[in-house]
Amino acid sequence: MRILVTNDDGIYSPGIAALARVARRYGEVRVVAPDVEQSAASHAVTAGRPVSYRPTPAFRDAEAYRVNGTPADCVALAVNRWENIDLVLSGVNLGLNIGNGIWHSGTVAAAKQAALLGIRAIAFSTPVGADEPDFEALEPHIASVVELLNGEDHPRLVNVNIPRAPVGMCWTRQYIGSYDGKVVPDTDPVGREIFWFTVVRVEEYESDTDIWAIENNYISITPLRLNLTDEPELEHLRARHPFDRA
Ligand code: MN
Repeated sequence: MRILVTNDDGIYSPGIAALARVARRYGEVRVVAPDVEQSAASHAVTAGRPVSYRPTPAFRDAEAYRVNGTPADCVALAVNRWENIDLVLSGVNLGLNIGNGIWHSGTVAAAKQAALLGIRAIAFSTPVGADEPDFEALEPHIASVVELLNGEDHPRLVNVNIPRAPVGMCWTRQYIGSYDGKVVPDTDPVGREIFWFTVVRVEEYESDTDIWAIENNYISITPLRLNLTDEPELEHLRARHPFDRA
């Protein structure tokens, strides 16, 4: 199996090192990731300037390349330069990607880019607190998820969040309730107004959501789809405003 490993925290993040170590158990691994942090880059691609990549010796037993582009660029470039990739693994992100955060996530976008190109993909994220995640302790859980999702009827695009000390796994849906982003005004050292884009805690959520799983120490596994079309709304509009087609 050929496995491409990428992320949005940058190629020198400890999270991608852990993911590459796990990936190596299952096949030939190549790492192609941004040269600097691209968190919250979402699905941006670099247009209007060229992108290049350089080899880096940062990984044992895996070819690795740092790219001066976005997470989606990394996947597009890697698929162009390396044929027959079977699986793309993105992460492990330092920080959860659940609920509304999925819209902004570069980690999930890298997996989405793979799925758009017809390659199945899994995005991994874990929370950060006062200290860095214990990736050695997380590795067996990452491996369990890869094995679970690597079966015959494997899903195409999956978002996985692993809590600090998992008690089990559960299938979840993305939480879409109240938006948890917040804009906080502040002043810079010379008194000019600046703004922090930050996240507030969601207090109410359904028990089948990704947020519930993480709050209850379960590994959250959410299958995602690429098509954003609101199907019931489409049916409703078609019935209500039937346009005559020439
Ligand atoms: Mn990140």
